Amino acid sequence: METTTSLLDAAAAGDLVLLDPLTEQSLLQTLQERFHRGDIYTYIGNVLISVNPYRPLPIYTPEKVQEYHNCNFFAVKPHIYAIADDAYHSLCDRDRDQCILITGESGAGKTEASKLVMSYVAAVSSKGEEVDKVKEQLLQSNPVLEAFGNAKTIRNDNSSRFGKYMDVEFDFKGEPLGGVISNYLLEKSRIVRHVKGERNFHIFYQLLAGGSAQLLQQLKLRQDCRHYGYLNHESSALSGMDDAANFHAMQDAMRVIGFSPAEVTALLEVTAVVLKLGNVQLSSSFQASGMESCSIAEPRELQEICELIGLDPSVLERALCSRTVKARDEAVLTALSVPQGYYGRDALAKNIYSRLFDWLVNRINTSIQVKPGEQRKVMGVLDIYGFEIFQDNGFEQFIINYCNEKLQQIFILLTLKEEQEEYVREGIQWTPVEFFDNSIICNLIENSTGGILAMLDEECLRPGVVNEDTFLAKLNQLFATHKRYESKETQSARHIMDASLPPRCFRIHHYAGKVTYNVTGFIEKNNDLLFRDLSQAMWAARHTLLRSLFPEGDPQKASLKLPPTAGYQFKASVATLMKNLYSKNPNYIRCIKPNETKAAMLFTPELVLAQVRYLGLMENVRVRRAGYAFRQLYGAFLSRYKMLSARTWPRWAGSDRDGAEQVLAELPIPAEELAFGHTKVFIRSPRTLFDLERRRQER
Ligand code: ADP
Ligand code: MG
Repeated sequence: METTTSLLDAAAAGDLVLLDPLTEQSLLQTLQERFHRGDIYTYIGNVLISVNPYRPLPIYTPEKVQEYHNCNFFAVKPHIYAIADDAYHSLCDRDRDQCILITGESGAGKTEASKLVMSYVAAVSSKGEEVDKVKEQLLQSNPVLEAFGNAKTIRNDNSSRFGKYMDVEFDFKGEPLGGVISNYLLEKSRIVRHVKGERNFHIFYQLLAGGSAQLLQQLKLRQDCRHYGYLNHESSALSGMDDAANFHAMQDAMRVIGFSPAEVTALLEVTAVVLKLGNVQLSSSFQASGMESCSIAEPRELQEICELIGLDPSVLERALCSRTVKARDEAVLTALSVPQGYYGRDALAKNIYSRLFDWLVNRINTSIQVKPGEQRKVMGVLDIYGFEIFQDNGFEQFIINYCNEKLQQIFILLTLKEEQEEYVREGIQWTPVEFFDNSIICNLIENSTGGILAMLDEECLRPGVVNEDTFLAKLNQLFATHKRYESKETQSARHIMDASLPPRCFRIHHYAGKVTYNVTGFIEKNNDLLFRDLSQAMWAARHTLLRSLFPEGDPQKASLKLPPTAGYQFKASVATLMKNLYSKNPNYIRCIKPNETKAAMLFTPELVLAQVRYLGLMENVRVRRAGYAFRQLYGAFLSRYKMLSARTWPRWAGSDRDGAEQVLAELPIPAEELAFGHTKVFIRSPRTLFDLERRRQER
């Protein structure tokens, strides 16, 4: 397909690899110009940048799908369909497993992008009753997971509060067979707390707004969400979001996936229990000994919970108000204070919900999993939170940014690997590339001896009084001279005065910038402690689903070993993810949020610049054009530039390669600017390509 547009600059070509000169400013300006023209997609080689338009664009129609299906990547405008198509075809034709990594900050458009990729692949892969059923199940996992895992936040009305990786598996013909979903770090603190203007997870509002009177009665719920302590009292109804309709869509989706009515009921019962736990009120009382203790203030909610889960109310009451402490060989029941009681109650609600979410993902996987033994090719799609730098950064940001540091590391490794492989494939000499290696930061965080996460675990396991100050002191001592670590103490040792770094904080110089983390809450969040009495109470319930969520509550199995910490678990799941990604051919989608107000057509340069940095886009371009900025198949190159030589125009009788060499030989281009591979011509700098374009235009 011949295009008539000029490629005279990167903005027109839609590829930042061609940016000349390459500066943050020129990169930003190119994105801005394109955005205002309605071109939300821009490439860096085969990396796609997507700027959220915050308005429906007419570019996702079935006609567009056809246009990009089997397209020549370079002959059509940059589009997410082109990336999806390229990945899908490499999977089918080149037999190479693919992954699509989607990153960006909240509200940047990651989840929408992942859905566009999935729906594109569903549209272009073949049809048939059996295949359509599989596709439908894969697509319908979205409304279910979104109901339980998404919430309205200030940044995004439908914000995913968990990271998601989905492997879609295909047979040798490229028909989807099924898939596997992995979830990461559900933001479970949202269950008990959320800031003004935000909401709890959608499911609660959906259930109350969309559940029939009979269902609500069965679940012992009231329709009015103002009744529930865990729900936001002011903004129950959210403009533009139809909770009732979404509830019905979610129920339909569960049916399509294959949930039985009994499973749906059990799921909703446990959901109701979480909501009702927030209404269990405690009051203080005094024991005969004069010790403060707590008791259930109003028994009705507790009784209803126990009716739902088949448990003797006195068992739950005891677990909420007291705690068994092992002293020597004796187990002693100690009363909890009111704050301790509420702490336990909230920990229970968070634990039930996050385990329920894990169960939900597993249950969906059971339906969509591929039978063992079938030959398959895999396309993985990762939709995960981007780098976060807030005013206050805590344990969550630390963990999320660690994950992004790992993703950056794998990006560099994979891009270089891919470049290297292409050079080998094409028979071109490889020269090593200079790039910023962020393993020093990854190691600082994840080293199993002496990394920050390991030190945190050590502190959490230490008997006696543990606190964050000793943790921080240890870090300061260990990393006193580390180039990427800073704190008040290490600064003053180096006689640095820096008012921007408060006490109780450490700062890491990430690839994307410096982030200051406050250690307050690190130990509690890493420990993620649930009193054993509570897990034992849950296990004692007759409700099959609920009790299955608390296997450690089985007194027979109660070992003294503490469960793995949150940090440890996350590190392990990141490692698994990285291993999985490393075995695949990567495709990148970098999402950018153009403004803070969800406004269409508004592009705030400062805001975008920050994201350009967090996404490491400059490094992206540098790595990408470290060798040759531009490459094209001989045939495509010749048909575009054959007009430049009298010998190739209008028709060239020889091979495409000879023709391309002929065209270039007649031009004053230094030899080191060009390389001729087996199937492609390589051009080192953008300037040479633009020169070709200029000549082409002057004809
Ligand atoms: P993220 O997952 O990165 O937090 P979402 O994918 O949920 O962000 O996108 C936030 C909102 O932005 C969506 O609900 C939608 O309104 C809008 N949006 C995102 N991508 C597009 C797009 N390609 N076209 C139109 N609107 C979009
Ligand atoms: Mg999302």
